Amino acid sequence: MATLFTAAAGYIDGKLVRDVQLCVGDAGEVLAGPLAGATRVDLGRKVLLPGFVNGHSHAFQRAIRGRTEFLAPGHERDDFWSWREAMYATATALDPEQLYAVSKQAFLEMALAGVTTVGEFHYLQHHSDGTPYDDDSLLAKQVIRAARDVGLRIVLLRVGYARAGHQVDPNPRQRRFIDSDVSVYLRRADALRTAVKGDAMVSVGLAPHSVRAVPKSWLEEIVKSRAFERAPLHMHVAEQPGEIRACMAEYAMHPVQLLDSVGMLSDRFTAVHGVHLERQEVARLGATGTTICACPSTERNLGDGIVHADSLLTAGSPISLGSDSQAHIDLLGEAQQLEGHLRLARLRRNVLDPVAPRLLEALTHAGSRSLGVQPQTLGAGSSADFVAIDLDHPSLAGADAGTGDAQLLASVVMGASSAAITDVFVAGRGIVRGAQHVEAESTARAFSAVMQQLRC
Ligand SMILES: [Zn+2]
Repeated sequence: MATLFTAAAGYIDGKLVRDVQLCVGDAGEVLAGPLAGATRVDLGRKVLLPGFVNGHSHAFQRAIRGRTEFLAPGHERDDFWSWREAMYATATALDPEQLYAVSKQAFLEMALAGVTTVGEFHYLQHHSDGTPYDDDSLLAKQVIRAARDVGLRIVLLRVGYARAGHQVDPNPRQRRFIDSDVSVYLRRADALRTAVKGDAMVSVGLAPHSVRAVPKSWLEEIVKSRAFERAPLHMHVAEQPGEIRACMAEYAMHPVQLLDSVGMLSDRFTAVHGVHLERQEVARLGATGTTICACPSTERNLGDGIVHADSLLTAGSPISLGSDSQAHIDLLGEAQQLEGHLRLARLRRNVLDPVAPRLLEALTHAGSRSLGVQPQTLGAGSSADFVAIDLDHPSLAGADAGTGDAQLLASVVMGASSAAITDVFVAGRGIVRGAQHVEAESTARAFSAVMQQLRC
């Protein structure tokens, strides 16, 4: 039986439509027009947007929120690298059930914030001492189960991790992440891909961690992998100046040049962060259609720097968004910060003009393209993944009073609080209704119990 959703407005195929009607078929797809006999669901004074795509997440890092906001003992200053040691302590401690509980809390918050698809950059693979589990995909499956139980679609980006860095001694806290060689890595990723086959909510991509953690010989094999020839490829790129220096020392090339030399740059590749880029690198990323996944709240929290989204978009790179370290889980906030950081850097306003449509593109379609899933557009044939934003929420009071479409859209994208998100649908099924998720309380209880055990 089809369902006909109605609401005050909806953003369909890149256009605001007033008094929108969205007809959803049995398989959870948007139909071309209303069907006679469809069950009617009136969502009232809401604006419907395509579901948000969280393009870059490490779900387990939800466990360190608020626990790294102090100078580490013995440190006069703090930076990415000291944060990373604190993060590793948690990464080493989690057992499979704890990882499930922590991941589920992160995904639940994502659902409440309007996320319908998450790209999980997953690098916890083995026991803490580096021994593989009997099922070497056990931890990836725990994370997938957590997303499925919340109701999200998930693209598990199985990380490849080889070493601490060029001429860097092994770090015992990275043993959990490491596969012994690239063929073992690709075989394990393929076994996971086979295990999830047939589940429309789950897919698997490849994620060589970074040019620091993965040598060139691995990158060459990963790009050539036949089993993953159409799968998304993601990688942390140019997040910190230290990574650029190390890449120059090892290869006498900047990271983007190195990736270009092995054929990595393409429209199925996503460079996560892309903060410290030379002008020629921006041009090359754009010319190859490489997506940049910006994670503004994390880049701000870690002191990474800002993504020059204006130059990258002009060069031809789509920009997607991610919550990354889970310092905050607020995708609308990520979009607002993307533009906000550019204003601070450029000393002007409306840098990504027209701001609201371009930020919506980053929140939705650019993310689905980057993860190789169905376009998030709410057009006929797309998945009925959508978010309802309440025009009667205080942050939107007056937003539709005598305004045109562009102003209404700008109020929603640049002015709404995420608390104005009342309903979230995945394949036409409500996973959040009335700003509530049915498993919110039990999930938070289980998560708190893990935090009590970890004492991190
Ligand atoms: Zn990351």
